Amino acid sequence: MRIDIITCLPGLLEGFFSQSIVKRAMEGGVVNLNIIDLREFGVGKSRQIDDYAFGGGAGMVMMMEPLSNAIESLQKERNYDEVIYMTPDGELLQQAATNAFSLQENLMIICGHYKGIDERVRQKYITKEISIGDYVLSGGEIPAAVLSDAIIRLIPGAMNDETSALTDSFQDGLLSPPVYTRPADYKGLKVPEVLLSGHFKKIEDWRTEKAIERTKDRRPELWKKTL
Ligand code: SAH
Repeated sequence: MRIDIITCLPGLLEGFFSQSIVKRAMEGGVVNLNIIDLREFGVGKSRQIDDYAFGGGAGMVMMMEPLSNAIESLQKERNYDEVIYMTPDGELLQQAATNAFSLQENLMIICGHYKGIDERVRQKYITKEISIGDYVLSGGEIPAAVLSDAIIRLIPGAMNDETSALTDSFQDGLLSPPVYTRPADYKGLKVPEVLLSGHFKKIEDWRTEKAIERTKDRRPELWKKTL
């Protein structure tokens, strides 16, 4: 899978993608992730990428031309399954969407800044608008990193134990059960007996029971949907 991210702050993303699961996935050829510097498509000598908002008001707007040139230069090379704009007024990101994205071949992600991007970019190029939550961040880089991470960890080969992603919260409509590691007794704080029993069926039943308990308790609306 290929993910191309267009940003005016490449450094923010480079740090993120140089660690952990995503780094391994890139090195292992599971994902080909590219960070494209919007500034290279800026207008004029100063490589301008933003300008004042028509109609006035505080805050700059990211210009159409640099974004349009950046997007089209990528589209010339290959077909994209989705051109995604990270934006607080987009569809709220859910596990089901990341599952679907992880099956695609080529994704392009656009990071906004300032007041956002010229609406005409959205009309002309964007096929999906995604929000990572009902709050406003100063740029689309963290949202793009969130989306990419959520997708990449699902691609076979990205994680050491591939089944692991399938047993995470939301995959089966339930939150995850509690997990423990050694020691079995830490200053009197004990791990539930059943997990030490080696009895696979009992352990599975216990985990299911705890996952249901936790979902009912913390996310009753999710539990209603799962029923
Ligand atoms: N004026 C816009 C916010 C712009 S924030 C509004 O009120 O809706 C600047 C940029 O940060 C956005 O263009 C977007 O790319 C990114 N961003 C901020 N919050 C986000 C969120 N919750 N989800 C996804 N992207 C977000």
